[in-house]
Amino acid sequence: MSEAVSPRFRTVVERLAAYKPGKVVRSPDGRSVKLSSNESPHGPLPSVLDAIARAAGEVNRYPDNGCVELTAEISARFGVPADHVALGCGAVGVTQMLLEAVGEPDAEVLYAWRSFEGYPILVSLSGATSVQVPLVEEKHDLTAMAEAITDRTRLIFICNPNNPTGTVLRRAELEAFLDRVPSDCLVVLDEAYREYVRDEETPDGLTLYGDRPNLAILRTFSKAYGLAGLRVGFMVAHPVVAAAVRKTFLPFSVNSLAQAAAVASLGARSELLERVEGTIKERDRVRAALLAQGWTVPPSEANFVWLRLGEDTMDFAAACEAAGVSVRPFAGEGARISIGSPEENDALLAAAESYPGRH
Ligand SMILES: *Cc1c(COP(=O)(O)O)cnc(C)c1O
Repeated sequence: MSEAVSPRFRTVVERLAAYKPGKVVRSPDGRSVKLSSNESPHGPLPSVLDAIARAAGEVNRYPDNGCVELTAEISARFGVPADHVALGCGAVGVTQMLLEAVGEPDAEVLYAWRSFEGYPILVSLSGATSVQVPLVEEKHDLTAMAEAITDRTRLIFICNPNNPTGTVLRRAELEAFLDRVPSDCLVVLDEAYREYVRDEETPDGLTLYGDRPNLAILRTFSKAYGLAGLRVGFMVAHPVVAAAVRKTFLPFSVNSLAQAAAVASLGARSELLERVEGTIKERDRVRAALLAQGWTVPPSEANFVWLRLGEDTMDFAAACEAAGVSVRPFAGEGARISIGSPEENDALLAAAESYPGRH
């Protein structure tokens, strides 16, 4: 018998490690607290559940491929023209669309590191090359990033607030950086956590893109809007950019339940943003408690906090897991801890309190 030969795949596919989603863990006494994926701790509002149920009755039909109603809602609520909006299967889907629009073997995609884990995977798959610029004091190093721009740089991700550190870039430094980017290079300002920002000097990207045709603003319904399970995100940019990105849309990949739920969520926006206030109070409480326990915790403008634990990272994550709390560890670097309900956060604080080596 001849040796089994597997089908041939692209080198990038063979080299790529599979994406690891946030873990669900359980303590011996049955506790399971998931603080590993930056989700909202709240289930959908009744009005949103109703909209999902209504849409469920019609799933024999294809979704609206143009997402017309949702696009109109986004346009009205955010005060942007409809032709500036492009939707995708989560902000991750939009990220993939953006990379499909610019990625080719010669292209470089620049971003800070550590930042959102989706970037390196999707950049590799697009055929482009990642150029990563280390964070300095848990923040984007915009000077080094500007210096890393080459003729080949086609796209730059700026994650603001940054996942996983929660740190922000302020208006003046961000605008100075944008001024240095060549106009044929796209900048994607990933604002997945925009609703959690309270620092007044951190600009809303939607106020920045008007006179910058190479700037795209990325938003999601997964975090503050609590629809992570339905997969819908969007981008706002000048019509030339939005049109190019829309061409790469996997047909029907924003499903009809997601569209209905997102429309209903925009209708219930003030209720949802009240929930965000609760998360922000908890974020500040959790950070203050961790600081009081002796940890070093950078200020966060998102729905998570960051502990730089270095070599102790995996040990800390294991100690949390034993207490039924899952966090998101990055081996050798640190752990990202999402803000959950007050009880969930108390469980995390108890686990952190009893951990022997503080940082
Ligand atoms: C969570 C997250 C996203 C997107 O999430 P989707 O669920 O795909 O909408 C995008 N960027 C960052 C930085 C995130 O943390």
